Amino acid sequence: MNKPRFVYFRGEFVPFEQAKVSVMTHGLNYGTGCFEGIRAYWNPQKSELFILEMRAHFERLKKSAHMLYMDFSESVDELCRLALELVKKNDYRENIYIRPLVYMGDELIGVRLHDLHPELAMFCVPMGDYVKTSGLKVCVSSWRRIDDNAVPARAKITGAYINSALAKTEAVKRNYDEAIFLNPDGHVSEGSAMNIFLVRDGQLVTPAVNHNILEGVTRRAVMELARRELGLETEERSIDRTELYVADEVFFCGTGAQIAPVVEIDDRVVARGEVGPVTLKLMEAYRRAVRGEAEAYLSWVTPVYQERKIELPAMPAHNA
Ligand code: PMP
Repeated sequence: MNKPRFVYFRGEFVPFEQAKVSVMTHGLNYGTGCFEGIRAYWNPQKSELFILEMRAHFERLKKSAHMLYMDFSESVDELCRLALELVKKNDYRENIYIRPLVYMGDELIGVRLHDLHPELAMFCVPMGDYVKTSGLKVCVSSWRRIDDNAVPARAKITGAYINSALAKTEAVKRNYDEAIFLNPDGHVSEGSAMNIFLVRDGQLVTPAVNHNILEGVTRRAVMELARRELGLETEERSIDRTELYVADEVFFCGTGAQIAPVVEIDDRVVARGEVGPVTLKLMEAYRRAVRGEAEAYLSWVTPVYQERKIELPAMPAHNA
């Protein structure tokens, strides 16, 4: 993966090589951190890079940090400004992924969340597809999703991603592309790093927010696109495992995953094993919206370089 030129670390922008933490760092030893993943899409026609749902991600970061007693001083507005400056400094003209990270920076032994000091860092890297978008073959994981009363999935906690990593690697080692988690109670939760939707009899269905899911920004965007573009409301409810096998369409969604159709689950084809019509329409609407091509969804995106394009007034003619 290409390394960025500059990253934000301990209150300043520094060359990538200088942003280093100690081996004793609390966040590294105990997974005491939280993070976000934000995409920005390059639009060549507009010569502009659009950051997708930046505020929503930073609002979620503040909430994740709050759950972990990691309240840090930067406001959502400040975080947005830092992200914009970071991207500009790296001067990217391609699709990128921005990773804000808050971690306990203390160098000490002791499992706890109190009397520790959160540090904020941010970096960005170029990124293409995180999973393929032509049709995924997935399995239901033998690993269960972390439960809200053990490790809250609602917070995007660094240490919690061992749960996702176990499921993803199990799936890949068994020759599947991805995994679907069930909750401890046996109902469908989400993918390893993405939310899940089903289409059943013309109805969009997704697990409700109290099913140990990360409350995805893309999940919300998909619901809005479905309502406004297809006239489809989404039912948020608990989903049985076997509903996966009889669904008309299944897709994942997430910042990384974007909208990624699932065509096979546990060696059973989903419907005819092709990308379904509702998924296709949502993918196309999403593709346009995230690149700042759809007027109706311009509020989702923040242009990075716009001020460079402001036309300067013509210089007054120098009268001879
Ligand atoms: N669930 C998990 C576990 C994730 O890691 C992600 C990716 N952030 C998602 C869902 C999708 O969330 P979002 O659409 O906000 O990226």
